[in-house]
Amino acid sequence: MNSNRNLLFKMIKPLYYLLVKNYAWKTPIYYLAFFFLFIFLICPQPFVYGAENGAVKNRENNFHEIEAQTGIPWAYVAGIDQYERNLRFSRKDLPPVKDAGISINFSDIVWCGIGNPNLHDEDLRTIQYFGGIGKDGDGDGKASRDSDKDLLLTMVDLLDDFGFDKEHFKIALWNYYHRDAAVSIIMNNAELFNKYGTIDLQKKVFPIPRHANYSYKDTWGMSRGWGGRRTHEGTDIFANYGVPVRSTCYGTVELKGWNKFGGWRVGIRDINNTYHYYAHLSSFAKDLAVGQLVEPGQVIGGVGSSGYGPKGTSGKFPPHLHYGLYKENGRSEWAFNPYPFLTKWEKNK
Ligand SMILES: [Zn+2]
Repeated sequence: MNSNRNLLFKMIKPLYYLLVKNYAWKTPIYYLAFFFLFIFLICPQPFVYGAENGAVKNRENNFHEIEAQTGIPWAYVAGIDQYERNLRFSRKDLPPVKDAGISINFSDIVWCGIGNPNLHDEDLRTIQYFGGIGKDGDGDGKASRDSDKDLLLTMVDLLDDFGFDKEHFKIALWNYYHRDAAVSIIMNNAELFNKYGTIDLQKKVFPIPRHANYSYKDTWGMSRGWGGRRTHEGTDIFANYGVPVRSTCYGTVELKGWNKFGGWRVGIRDINNTYHYYAHLSSFAKDLAVGQLVEPGQVIGGVGSSGYGPKGTSGKFPPHLHYGLYKENGRSEWAFNPYPFLTKWEKNK
């Protein structure tokens, strides 16, 4: 009897101290609460990261489900969605990107059918009657553009004329977009997603190894120090001859060769359809080839001073890496200042 009372007392003692005697600091609950508050205050990053990761997972789940439903390789669908997502980011005439959602876009007329008086139609029968393409992928009996699964099934149905082997898929893509660049960008996205098994390929690194001696400053828009009439479209990173030049991103090698201004240069397109340009190289990495997939930190060549003359010209200026960033949205192409990105990537370890 006595020991039972002791046990009961031990169990309620912390609560008793906390609530009645107000000796809160003597109870483990108090320390526990403080501990969690401390954790929450000092590291908000895991929570933020968790949210972003959730959006990626949600998109990936949608791609895997449509593969299970239709047989289309998930990376193909992910490649299309990434392409359309990039268009939304860079065009004001398209709807804004939904972080965790599918970005594939269909107009009212295409979805609902020509002559359909209801431009927000979700009724499968009337959509079909007017020749619209809207499908029901989530099984709720409606064809809704607010449903990721409806959007995906509709897209896959449009592309599924001859099956999903690579060559037929490329033809189907061209028939849909009527644009060679769209086909190659989507196929490159798909190959990267397939190789790495995820769509989460946003990691970036500084192009020069941290241990090397280098220097750079913001020279965006200044007139060029040597040759050329255009203003400077990039950042010059000065380093010794032969210091490794690394890919800043996951991407596909789109260009490798000589240009009389850029010298030996490499161009890499990432999944955001950003084109990364590396010029004045002294050499290319062994086996580097157009079409090759690269990852952040992978060596693509060496710092040099090639350019400003016929093929092979070198030494007309101090060795440096000219690094440029370009964007295009299917209508125009433009350069943007790499400097703020370089300073950010330099801090990433
Ligand atoms: Zn430059």
